[in-house]
Amino acid sequence: MQTQTLTIALSKGRIFQDTLPLLEQAGIVPLDDPVASRKLILDTNLAHVKVVVIRAADVPTYVQYGAADLGVAGKDVLMEGGSSELYEPLDLNIARCRLMVAAPKQPRPIHGRLRIATKYVNIARDYYATKGEQVEIIKLYGAMELAPLVGLADRIVDLVETGNTLKANGLEPTETIAHISSRLVVNKAAMKMKHEPIKRLIAQLRDAVSAAKAA
Ligand code: AMP
Repeated sequence: MQTQTLTIALSKGRIFQDTLPLLEQAGIVPLDDPVASRKLILDTNLAHVKVVVIRAADVPTYVQYGAADLGVAGKDVLMEGGSSELYEPLDLNIARCRLMVAAPKQPRPIHGRLRIATKYVNIARDYYATKGEQVEIIKLYGAMELAPLVGLADRIVDLVETGNTLKANGLEPTETIAHISSRLVVNKAAMKMKHEPIKRLIAQLRDAVSAAKAA
């Protein structure tokens, strides 16, 4: 029987770097560095396995539509996107951080509704709805920390790892919304059609995650 091809979707940066050692333990080594080569499709040491390098927020879409069989996506991206069309079989325990609310250390007086700046509009809306608080959500694409400093918002909802970025901008974390790490996601049809190689890869990655935890 012919070896079935596998396409794995990764995003550049932290997820790519942290996924590499896990893939290597599963016997998969990309032959190019996406930053140096600028290639978007990377060959690997295995002829039937390719890696596509895309924006983090696009990974669930590529996997959902089957353009990639598997991918690695942050739980924040999965929560915000809200697709039920993917399997999420494994917590890779990488790129760990928290999704938090942060506020200025010296808050300004708040008139009317609390204004929340974030790129996670769906998560923030749900969070405040669950708390029964009426807030105004302001969508931003980056540098959320700036918003309270210039009076655009009273709070931000953003990822926090060490807390240094918040601190450097006079902000402090006030509430944890979710603990975040990267997850393996798998296309539902591929899970059926390519069951054997995908099952094997999941098992190998699970072993690699356990070994990394024990180290
Ligand atoms: P830190 O200063 O270590 O708390 O990191 C905060 C900055 O890094 C913020 O700009 C976050 O959006 C970003 N960040 C933290 N953790 C992650 C992660 N796991 N994935 C992507 N961005 C992150």
